[in-house]
Amino acid sequence: MRRKLIAGNWKMNGLRADSVALAGALAGRLHRAGPQGWDMLICPPAPLLVPVAGAIAGSPIVLGGQDCHSEPAGAHTGDVSAAMLKDAGCSHVIVGHSERRGDHGEDDALVRAKAEAALAAGLSPVVCVGETEPEREAGGALSVIQRQIEGSLPWQADPASFVVAYEPVWAIGTGRTASSVDIAEVHAHIRALLTQRLGEDGARQVRVLYGGSVKPGNAAEILAVANVDGALVGGASLKAEEFWAIATASG
Ligand code: PEP
Repeated sequence: MRRKLIAGNWKMNGLRADSVALAGALAGRLHRAGPQGWDMLICPPAPLLVPVAGAIAGSPIVLGGQDCHSEPAGAHTGDVSAAMLKDAGCSHVIVGHSERRGDHGEDDALVRAKAEAALAAGLSPVVCVGETEPEREAGGALSVIQRQIEGSLPWQADPASFVVAYEPVWAIGTGRTASSVDIAEVHAHIRALLTQRLGEDGARQVRVLYGGSVKPGNAAEILAVANVDGALVGGASLKAEEFWAIATASG
């Protein structure tokens, strides 16, 4: 059984005081609740990683970056390397989020290079894929996801060392979610693609998250869908009660 992973993507939100308070509130809840059958990951903006790492020290919550460069170091003004994230206390890093693919023109080859850089630095990449609304309306969702999965995943890596997140672009930050039937179809497709490349034993080790307007009110239904191994949560991860409610909905 894969343990569910409940991941919070804080995006470009928060300053030090409120971020430390949010992380501390989650760590406190987890401490009071005791061991759970799921894992929690929070991904604050880069400048907040170190103070947030302090706020969750000693708790089972793990820390992730929101992006990393594909090179280990060098003349890349404004970028952050995977080794820097590791040094700041991260175990994970999101790569290929649709906001990076869209805002920064990141393609599958670059996302894969970032995932490989993350692995080389000892981080687990959370590789995001997902179709746009016109792609879904044109009946192309599965083929877009297939292209992204084939092009973006670090296929040479240990399957237990990376995570996939299916995030339909039209569902991110919009309040709209894919139906359980559509989520089940895409996740089964992703699992089949993983099986083709990694074999059944390898594919079984990869956690495949769903992301796109996951909220306390829809989390239980989404997390119960076959092949959904957790959630990547944006907006609702910025409030401790909401993110906690999503995590506990995973059972
Ligand atoms: C995300 O940023 O990955 C995301 C899923 O955002 P939201 O939950 O706000 O849709």
